[in-house]
Amino acid sequence: MTKLPTDLHITYQLQFRKCGKPSCGTCKRGRGHGPYWYAYWREGTKLRSGYIGKTQPAGAPPSVIARAEARLVAVLVGA
Ligand SMILES: [Zn+2]
Repeated sequence: MTKLPTDLHITYQLQFRKCGKPSCGTCKRGRGHGPYWYAYWREGTKLRSGYIGKTQPAGAPPSVIARAEARLVAVLVGA
């Protein structure tokens, strides 16, 4: 797992990922695997991301968690 910075502003997102395996039924049927938590932050001009996993990021404020979950629901409903 990527080491997340502690001194930078991090945003969190819940996302589905396709594994790319042609035989994978999960990806064939739907959005892929997940949702998984990802962290995004900027280092200078570069946007960096880190995989967190199935469990919500420890130390993230509840409001941040709620916002990411609301965004995921919007994606699921809107598609
Ligand atoms: Zn897959």
